Amino acid sequence: MDALIIVDIQKDFLPGGALAVSQGDEVIPVVNALQKHFDLIVATQDYHPASHLSFAANHKGKNPGDHIDLKGLDQVLWPIHCVQGSEGAAFADRLEMTKVKKIFQKGSDPEIDSYSGFYDNGHLKSTGLGDYLRQKGVDRVVIAGLAADYCVKFTALDAKGLGFDTVVVKDGTRAVNLKEDDFERALEEMEAQGIKVVGSQEIIKK
Ligand SMILES: [Zn+2]
Repeated sequence: MDALIIVDIQKDFLPGGALAVSQGDEVIPVVNALQKHFDLIVATQDYHPASHLSFAANHKGKNPGDHIDLKGLDQVLWPIHCVQGSEGAAFADRLEMTKVKKIFQKGSDPEIDSYSGFYDNGHLKSTGLGDYLRQKGVDRVVIAGLAADYCVKFTALDAKGLGFDTVVVKDGTRAVNLKEDDFERALEEMEAQGIKVVGSQEIIKK
């Protein structure tokens, strides 16, 4: 059984948003087309309290892009984004959501960030996504969304680590690219762990 995991396609990650991923909106038609080929679709949603410690604004004298030590983990600081209940945290208007069976929120603990849809960055707490997929009999997950070098990558690495056959859709994702080759490096890192990177046509044509 296959599942499609749609990662963080939220307004703040789209052009014009608080933490805009360049061309992030271009993944929406790809993801909408992919959805027709799946019986089980879930979505993740970055969903932070305003006090979240991944926000540079919550650290005196710090700017987005700076790094801090957050409870023993290296944490890059971000602009304020995806605050619970805000318009920026909402899913993209054009994203098809009617087939999404369940939404897994992450990043709600103010003291730890959560890139992966499965666990926080310290692997301390599970969102329940792994158990949910297992209960549904899923053995392969296909992942698309934002952003390739953070939440998509860490969701894929955790999926693989949990034993799911894991596929990332290259044209269904875009990267933040704090460094210009972060997209390619993320793809290489995933492939090195046995994650397949494919074009959406490879899934749609079947
Ligand atoms: Zn976030």
